[in-house]
Amino acid sequence: MSSDSLTCEEVIRQLFAYLDRELDTQVSAEIDRHLETCRECFSRAEFERRLRQKVRETAREEPPERLQRRIRAMLDRY
Ligand SMILES: [Zn+2]
Repeated sequence: MSSDSLTCEEVIRQLFAYLDRELDTQVSAEIDRHLETCRECFSRAEFERRLRQKVRETAREEPPERLQRRIRAMLDRY
């Protein structure tokens, strides 16, 4: 593992910010690169993406903060 590449843990920890595009381009690019080579993180990111899609669809029915908390709690179990 080279020093300039992220670990799976770091990728997962920043996944929300990554999907929200809140990370700077360098970190975001590093995550992109990690996802290209790490199947585990890639499927996690895909799962997350789909989940967020659903969140957006149901946003009108449930306060986003509450939903976000529930999703994070759910992910913490992995
Ligand atoms: Zn990974």
